[in-house]
Amino acid sequence: MSQTNKGRSSRFPGFYSLDVDERHDRLCEFVRLAAEERYQLKHEALPLKIADQMVENVIGVFGLPLGLAANFRIQDRDYVIPMAIEESSVVAGVSHVAKLVREHGRITAHSTEPVMIGQIQIVGVADPDEARHRVLEAKERILHIANEQDPVLVELGGGAKDVEVRVLNTVRGPMLIIHLLVDVRDAMGANVVNTMCEALALFLEGRAGGKVRLRIVSNLADRRLAGARLEVSPAAFEEQEWNGEDVVEGILDAYAFALADPYRAATHNKGVMNAIDALMIATGNDWRAVEAGAHAYAARDGQYRPLTSWTRAAEGHLVGEIELPVPAGLIGGATKVHPNARIALKLLGVSSAKELAEVAAAVGLVQNLAALRSLVTEGIQRGHMILHARNVAMSAGAAGEAVSHVANQMIREGKIRFDRARQIVRHLLKGAERTVHDLEARLRHESLREAETRESESRPGKTGRATQPQRDDKVDEPLHHE
Ligand code: NAD
Repeated sequence: MSQTNKGRSSRFPGFYSLDVDERHDRLCEFVRLAAEERYQLKHEALPLKIADQMVENVIGVFGLPLGLAANFRIQDRDYVIPMAIEESSVVAGVSHVAKLVREHGRITAHSTEPVMIGQIQIVGVADPDEARHRVLEAKERILHIANEQDPVLVELGGGAKDVEVRVLNTVRGPMLIIHLLVDVRDAMGANVVNTMCEALALFLEGRAGGKVRLRIVSNLADRRLAGARLEVSPAAFEEQEWNGEDVVEGILDAYAFALADPYRAATHNKGVMNAIDALMIATGNDWRAVEAGAHAYAARDGQYRPLTSWTRAAEGHLVGEIELPVPAGLIGGATKVHPNARIALKLLGVSSAKELAEVAAAVGLVQNLAALRSLVTEGIQRGHMILHARNVAMSAGAAGEAVSHVANQMIREGKIRFDRARQIVRHLLKGAERTVHDLEARLRHESLREAETRESESRPGKTGRATQPQRDDKVDEPLHHE
């Protein structure tokens, strides 16, 4: 792992209670942000003119909150994790559990080389087994043609490294499926691999006979795996209401449930991907590719299973492990195009795609622990409640300080519902209208009194009562209706 930010702590006590400018100040103690980067973070998520170059038929841009998960220490290095996500509680949950683990345990991470698989499908081959041998005999030529497509990648130590051939029996008969294994270095790699696969089509048709159909990267990137392991003492989970040992037992039961039941495993993995996707989006990576790979990998033994595993070590510590494909890059795609993705990568401070994948795996594992810990103790609704209530308040029309007011009232009443939020918002609006009305009336009243005083003072010898205001000035109306 790179040594950037080495020695600086990602512990940011009280970060949540700061305002955005104060959070930027605090963050600058970890990674220095230029004034224009701070401005960029606050004002222009994605300028329209860049968005217009990225996809077709652009009609605007779409914002997401960019949160920062603190407290991460992976191996011996601290990280801050940028997370673009609309779901409340994820950033808080992962930060809190990262703190527990750094105080009571340890996280390590590892990864394979960044090897992606390109697939070339050949149909109508007369003798697939014989064709398979002919293709494998031409391996050096295949690698040469592939590598001619990307001298930059080859220069960097990457490029096509190997060829595998499978004979696949399908509903449309046997097919020859050629796998091109490409080390894509710091790219996500889909474009690189697709280009190589397309360039090989003619040569492979000649070699194997038959007809080339698809030529595309596989999203089951199982040669590009990232993993993490954490070990934490049950003391981390000890609270007034909860016994640490029992929380660990609960987490082991929850894991056994997910291992045996795809209905539970899907939700278990959704929690893992809450964190990984948020990091992928923040860094401009193709999160759908990571999602597709993760779920396909989770079903690799024929049953959909959890991406993490939880066991107890001999000394009683809880041990969590994760392994999944993380085809994510530091260059290519939107990583360098999206201004906020550039800032997110700077904050993260990773120096290779391998390191990004390792951080992603670790963040997914910690997020899973955060979710399981909540599920086996207080349930997830309590943690969700405040931010959920705020979202309900905003969707019912609350803005500014009214958001907290409406949310708090719903929490006190135990009714976090859109209809109740709407009632409270209406009530506040009526109150505000009355206040504005009363203020206007008071101002008119005062200016009339001033005018009267001025007039009576300017009339020589006349000291009596000032002229009564006209009825339609409404100054005689009471200042409060209730
Ligand atoms: P890319 O083609 O934009 O960039 C990769 C290129 O950058 C390499 O070919 C290389 O020439 C160059 N490069 C410079 N420095 C490098 C370094 N240090 N390491 C590696 N390469 C370096 O990007 P890509 O990663 O090939 O493609 C990613 C894009 O492909 C994403 O936007 C993704 O959405 C899209 N995509 C995905 C799929 C899929 O997942 N099924 C399919 C098609 C396209």
